[in-house]
Amino acid sequence: MSDDFDVIVIGGGPVGENAAARTAAGGLRTALVEAERVGGECSYWACMPSKALLRPGHALAAARRVPGVPVGARLDPVEVLKRRNSFTSDWDDSGQVEWAEGAGLTVVRGRGRLAGERRVDVDGRVLTATKAVVVCTGSVPRIPSLPGLSDVPYWTSREATSAQEVPESLVVLGGGVVGVEMAQAWARLGSDVTLVVSGERPLPKFEAFAGDLVAEGLREDRVRLVTGAKAVGVSGSDGRVELRLSDGSSVGGAHLLITTGRQPATFDLGVERFGFTAGKALDVDDTGRVSGVDWLYAAGDVTGRALLTHQGKYAARAVGTAIVTGATDPRPWTAPVATADHTAVPQVVFTDPEVASVGWTEAQAREAGLDIRVVDLDIAVAGSSLHADGYRGKARMIVDEGRRTLVGVTFAGPDVAELIHAATIAIVGEVTVDRLWHAVPAYPTISEVWLRLLEAYGL
Ligand SMILES: Cc1cc2nc3c(=O)[nH]c(=O)nc-3n(C[C@H](O)[C@H](O)[C@H](O)COP(=O)(O)OP(=O)(O)OC[C@H]3O[C@@H](n4cnc5c(N)ncnc54)[C@H](O)[C@@H]3O)c2cc1C
Repeated sequence: MSDDFDVIVIGGGPVGENAAARTAAGGLRTALVEAERVGGECSYWACMPSKALLRPGHALAAARRVPGVPVGARLDPVEVLKRRNSFTSDWDDSGQVEWAEGAGLTVVRGRGRLAGERRVDVDGRVLTATKAVVVCTGSVPRIPSLPGLSDVPYWTSREATSAQEVPESLVVLGGGVVGVEMAQAWARLGSDVTLVVSGERPLPKFEAFAGDLVAEGLREDRVRLVTGAKAVGVSGSDGRVELRLSDGSSVGGAHLLITTGRQPATFDLGVERFGFTAGKALDVDDTGRVSGVDWLYAAGDVTGRALLTHQGKYAARAVGTAIVTGATDPRPWTAPVATADHTAVPQVVFTDPEVASVGWTEAQAREAGLDIRVVDLDIAVAGSSLHADGYRGKARMIVDEGRRTLVGVTFAGPDVAELIHAATIAIVGEVTVDRLWHAVPAYPTISEVWLRLLEAYGL
């Protein structure tokens, strides 16, 4: 096999796959270098298995909110874990390798390191690229330096998404998205879960009402929520792990799950050779080009821009297009720039209730100095009350008063995830509220909240 390519992509997660498929479709000889499994964290230890663990609990809770639907008392963990295993193909990536080869990529197994200009060393084998090298190595859990932590076994998101048995009890440290999702998934499967968060409420990066609604949902699932808590040490014995907190109390369980954030995977990658720091994100422009190195591109979690699969894949499409359009006459593809990263990143927290948001929070918009108007409403519309008895949800719309366009929307409530794309379109399309008025939501759907928001705005 020749080791000469036009493009070398390091990291075969969802982002690397997309960047590589794009350059191969543009006629460039493309290598995809992967150290573990083609499909990356997302397919095997993140998005897919976490959502497969959560979905059955949501379906059961949704059925319980509609009197007359016969449901069992609890989930069947064996079946839930079996279905989760099928979504990860039992951690076998042969299907994804087959897809990659079908897309015209050369899959190279091994750990890639930047070895020089347009050169990548894969465990001693040197690949060269005529056009570009694209770094899509993702991220790894950020582990806090807690006294005693290195002496006890602990879980990261990998163990939390791939465990083959329901833990009898689980202490989750960190109330971000992964922390709340995994706390609820395992609690609903029967684990006795304690969630320790440092702030007043979980989900500190979202609007406060969203974190409060999720906290209520977790408590209803018997998750013990410890707020305002700072972990100061860990110890373990006899199959139990104890987490000591700064107020002198402690919480314990059979397993400790650390969900205190992610770090760009730029270790052992040779980035120092080009003036970058291992462990830090690779700073890119909107075409994905790494600052100061004209043949080096990056996309996805490794850039620290938006740690989300869909946003990384969007950046990958921009990178692929930028490389192809610089190389040959392209098809009429869309502009090779990932500009939405700055203003319109949609995100869903797949707890029950769900949180779906796009654009800025109120605090971010104010910090940016925008003249905004915030419209808050309960999601109490005909569609929601038909959807579920006792439906509880809230919506917030943030309007840039200067342009009369939306700059941020958050929904929190059961089954709001599918509402968010309309908000994304409104923000990206810079649709004025006056024009949005003519997008009439169907009756009776939860989307009627859009009409109520615009009415509350004054239309
Ligand atoms: C528990 C959890 C749940 C999540 N749920 C969602 C969700 O529902 N929706 C969502 O949008 N996002 C979710 N995310 C975030 C999502 O997983 C990431 O944003 C996404 O995986 C990033 O894709 P990536 O390709 O950049 O990186 P990754 O998926 O991390 O892939 C990087 C790949 O690069 C490989 N690699 C690393 N270094 C090298 C090297 N030197 N040589 C060769 N290969 C290398 C790795 O083995 C890996 O396969 C979740 C994350 C977690 C942890």
